[in-house]
Amino acid sequence: MYEEKRKYINEYKKSKGCEVCGYNKCASALDFHHDNGEKEFNISQCSNLEKIKIEIMKCAVLCKNCHAELTEKSPDWRINKTKKGEYIGGVVALGYKTKNKKLIIDEEKAEIIRMIFKMKRYKRMGLREIARELNKLNIPTSKDKGEWYGTTVKYILENPLYKGNKFKRGALVLI
Ligand SMILES: [Zn+2]
Repeated sequence: MYEEKRKYINEYKKSKGCEVCGYNKCASALDFHHDNGEKEFNISQCSNLEKIKIEIMKCAVLCKNCHAELTEKSPDWRINKTKKGEYIGGVVALGYKTKNKKLIIDEEKAEIIRMIFKMKRYKRMGLREIARELNKLNIPTSKDKGEWYGTTVKYILENPLYKGNKFKRGALVLI
């Protein structure tokens, strides 16, 4: 089982190659990077190959050099673009979408993000209070289904992707 898993992972890494520079010679120089910046997440502990296959699809494959370069530029490397200006990475944060591999603002969804930051900043609402309000207004979550919880709101408020965004006329401006 272990051998099969390792073989699958290595083949996958090499077939994808680094998403920035295309390097694909040595699998051990390539790592999976998850949305939350966690490296290799729990692949090593996970023994279910089917689960692994699903998990790695959500990840970006980057070589060690490119990853070091990107994280030096910005702790949230997902907002970085490749040399070709293309977006790298799997899951796109709420408020953004990709078009022709470019990361652009999803105006409709960005309103939700602005709303959350406004509630926190101007109404001084707590996490659970915000979640309740969003549910009351039937605002879709990033998964388009399910309820808002304090933790989902916290995740958004603490996501480095939205940090450094400025408020303009009382509304958060996404960059
Ligand atoms: Zn690379």
